[in-house]
Amino acid sequence: MSHHSLSRRDFIRNSATAGAAIALRPQLHSPPSHPVAIASRNGLQAVARTIEEINQGSDALDAIIAGVNLVEEDPSDLTVGYGGLPNAEGIVELDAAVMHGPTGRVGAVASLEGIKYPSKVAQLVLERTDHVLLVGEGAQEFARMHGFSTENLLTDEAREIWVQWRETLSNRDDYLPPHGPDDVNLGEAFQRNEEFWGTIHCSAIDLLGNISSVTTTSGLAFKIPGRVGDSPIPGAGLYCDNDVGAAGSTGRGEANLQSCCSFLIVERMRMGDSPQDACLYACERITQNTHLARLQNESGEPAFNVSFYALNKAGEVAGARIRGPGQMAVADQDGARLIELAYLFE
Ligand code: ASP
Repeated sequence: MSHHSLSRRDFIRNSATAGAAIALRPQLHSPPSHPVAIASRNGLQAVARTIEEINQGSDALDAIIAGVNLVEEDPSDLTVGYGGLPNAEGIVELDAAVMHGPTGRVGAVASLEGIKYPSKVAQLVLERTDHVLLVGEGAQEFARMHGFSTENLLTDEAREIWVQWRETLSNRDDYLPPHGPDDVNLGEAFQRNEEFWGTIHCSAIDLLGNISSVTTTSGLAFKIPGRVGDSPIPGAGLYCDNDVGAAGSTGRGEANLQSCCSFLIVERMRMGDSPQDACLYACERITQNTHLARLQNESGEPAFNVSFYALNKAGEVAGARIRGPGQMAVADQDGARLIELAYLFE
């Protein structure tokens, strides 16, 4: 077990202690002297870029969007933006949301096709509409109105993985893999099950001590067309409060949507939890809310993963996931690095 991991018993004990402190310690921290950025594991370059932008004077929201744009445009990340794995029909559908601490404003897009930078479109929803969430064709038309051009986001690598998925899905249809059903040669990425899940979340504190958050994703690979996960839903895939901190998620969106964990984490931090305790609290809440046998392993634990990333106003950062181990990206005055996530179950 990693030294960051907690047993369930430790976790319950810690959360009971934190619970006792609630009424006594509503926390408003003073601004940090240095900026800090956090992201999911695929965000190492993104957090480095975010800190560069902040050091040049950017607002945290502009900085994190510049950071995640690197991943949105990267064809080798199969879980975000251009090159993301498509839905069941072979179409890349993107979800993204942004939240700006100083104004409390939020903007989001879901099931957006053909636009490489959904986080930028989400920022335009925040800045240039009186709405929070635009979906599908309406979101795409809105992006075109603001000068985005549509393009094919399905790379050959993602298309081939989708074809392999389609051809091996069932023996009761007429699609066949190249060498027949008994001799399937699935690609390396297809074999790495975690590639079906993935997203980038990034939150940061800027030089003024202001906080913002973004989450952007191609969502669950091979999803039913129109399926929207937790990423673009404020309170689920991300949440920030300029007085308290920020949180975001990656992993099984359906589980997080049921418990609205980013909001929960920020509220736990408001009541005095450290970022790590607040993230573990959310993992525990999902565990308590997982009742279906098909989602549990033999021990009754969630058989899936959800990871959370959080920072507080004081600049403390941490993350936790249901099943460990795992890592997240952090950048501050000491540079960009990966740190370990706490977890509930091995
Ligand atoms: N949370 C994302 C979703 O459910 C996917 C992921 O992070 O893997 O759409």
